[in-house]
Amino acid sequence: IIKIRDIIRDFKLGQETVHVLKGIDLDINKGEYVAIMGPSGSGKSTLMNLLGCLDTPTAGSYILNGKDVSKMSDDELAEIRNKEIGFVFQTFNLLPRTTALDNVALPMVYGGASKRDRTERAEQVLTDVGLADRMDHRPNQLSGGQRQRVAVARALVNNPSIILADEPTGNLDSKTGVEIMNLFDAIHKAGNTVIMVTHEEEIAAHAERVIRLRDGLIESDTKK
Ligand code: ATP
Ligand code: MG
Repeated sequence: IIKIRDIIRDFKLGQETVHVLKGIDLDINKGEYVAIMGPSGSGKSTLMNLLGCLDTPTAGSYILNGKDVSKMSDDELAEIRNKEIGFVFQTFNLLPRTTALDNVALPMVYGGASKRDRTERAEQVLTDVGLADRMDHRPNQLSGGQRQRVAVARALVNNPSIILADEPTGNLDSKTGVEIMNLFDAIHKAGNTVIMVTHEEEIAAHAERVIRLRDGLIESDTKK
């Protein structure tokens, strides 16, 4: 589902060029459950942003679902981001003045579904993540774990082929973190491809494959 070859990502900072990803090769198959680990600054989030088509590499190729991402138009990229990828962030990134239901329904607006279908689908996904009784709450009326459930529901709403999560439990206490991980386990069991970044070995242990980055390169890649 993902095929990356010799990906390089440099950032220009004034006169200086920062080399962040220095040649990454990576294949991920449909249905895999992958954890990406590595020290702060090793390039994990940079890699996730590339995988999620939120950023483009300086060099190298990225084939997603058989299509070369570098050859896509902005419209095609926007469609991929909306339909193929579900992104979950450490800081939830929900709209603050918007109910859980509307936060989850929002990504469907782009697809042109009717208001009624959007509401029905959002209600269903929120129920799946255990928030049937919290649909009309705004983010500040929810706990951290509940906010992250809303973010997970939003990531799932368009049935993406890949779920990307960058430190999804980073802002949660360990008990709430385990609840969110149970959710990711269920998402994986349902046949989805899940790729997450984490600093914690216990969280990474949920995955079937652990990739360790160091200084912009893959240091190890082990499957259970
Ligand atoms: P953390 O565990 O702290 O989240 P990370 O592995 O996710 O770290 P990245 O966010 O990928 O690390 O950043 C890797 C390096 O790239 C860092 O040194 C960072 O300063 C640099 N970097 C990231 N984005 C940019 C940017 N837009 N411009 C310049 N440098 C950047
Ligand atoms: Mg990061």
